[in-house]
Amino acid sequence: MGSQKIDKLFSDELSLYADLDKLISTYTSSFCAEILAQIQTLQKEVANIQRQQAAEIQALCDNIDFEKEHPLFFNFINRIDFSNLEIPETKYLCYLSIYKLLRKATGQALISNLCHHLTENQKIIMRNSKDQSIYVKEFDFYHPEIDEDNTLVVAGEQGSIIPIIDFIAFGHELIHILHRLLDFKFNTKHDFKLSDNNPKHWLYLGSFLEPELSPKPGEYATIESSRHTLNGMSENKIRADFGLPLRGAWRTVKLGDFTELDKYLYFVKKIKNGALFSTKEKLEIPLMFFDRKSRRPEKVSSAKEEEDFTISQSKPLSLYSFCSIL
Ligand SMILES: [Zn+2]
Repeated sequence: MGSQKIDKLFSDELSLYADLDKLISTYTSSFCAEILAQIQTLQKEVANIQRQQAAEIQALCDNIDFEKEHPLFFNFINRIDFSNLEIPETKYLCYLSIYKLLRKATGQALISNLCHHLTENQKIIMRNSKDQSIYVKEFDFYHPEIDEDNTLVVAGEQGSIIPIIDFIAFGHELIHILHRLLDFKFNTKHDFKLSDNNPKHWLYLGSFLEPELSPKPGEYATIESSRHTLNGMSENKIRADFGLPLRGAWRTVKLGDFTELDKYLYFVKKIKNGALFSTKEKLEIPLMFFDRKSRRPEKVSSAKEEEDFTISQSKPLSLYSFCSIL
């Protein structure tokens, strides 16, 4: 009752994502400016359709029948503190993400688990972020301002590049919160090792500079679910529920930033093809991101050169600013 309009808009939104996937795939094999412009137009359509849905959900929240029909939705929004939001409309974008997640089984299980495990005094605190990404710190949930001009992309399971989608990213952060509530500990010994020769793990690095020191087992578990608990709840399970392509990496880049996307693609393709990096190449990865004119790590060097290189590049540098973190 009353929600058919949102459901119709949501179904249109899901078809836009299918179109977006096709265009991104064309763009990442051609880097044609015209295709990028088409992607940006589509992205504006997605933002526009989201605003229409947010307006609908705002109106529905005053409808007593809607409240009766969606008890879990109302139960959950009561567990969230929206009072710190500087941009009030963000609240309805959050409502919208929750509403969408509740359309399918994995999202329902996620939200009912959160309602169950949050103690009576515990609330998820929603805040605005200037950053383009959605992210959480403890129970503080940072929601970005809408950015229509750029698309955050990530490597898909099939080696393609796929867009980050708001309500999916929202679900991803909720999974992190659930892991925290259940006190899951992720460590490289048990959940995730780079030394086990699984190329996929290389796409879950905390930093390209110090890969061995900072892999992200918690992200791997959130996106791919390495655990059998919670019925394999993961971002990819939510994606599968909606027929969306599966995500296969943690780091995201901006589609419009050609230089970084090009380098990211190179890195992703090499790993997806199972070509693991040598020690020298591991050290060159950050250079690929730092120095825009830097060579790609294809040149074979002598053992002596490699040794010199290792020494000269051992100074730690931070890479965290190069792209958004989800
Ligand atoms: Zn995450």
